[in-house]
Amino acid sequence: MNVCSYCGRDIDDHRPVFVDERLDGTRRRTGQFCNYACLSAHIEDEELTTGACCRLEM
Ligand SMILES: [Zn+2]
Repeated sequence: MNVCSYCGRDIDDHRPVFVDERLDGTRRRTGQFCNYACLSAHIEDEELTTGACCRLEM
């Protein structure tokens, strides 16, 4: 069973979203979520976006 990194439910029951990161040139799966709602909640809970944004100069 593929479980959601956020809520622990079976992602195959939903429309799953996957997160990959490139570490030392290798692509690694670091997260899998039921949908964007779980991904978004996970990002907020972990504060993954704090100070990490690419800056857009307008
Ligand atoms: Zn979920």
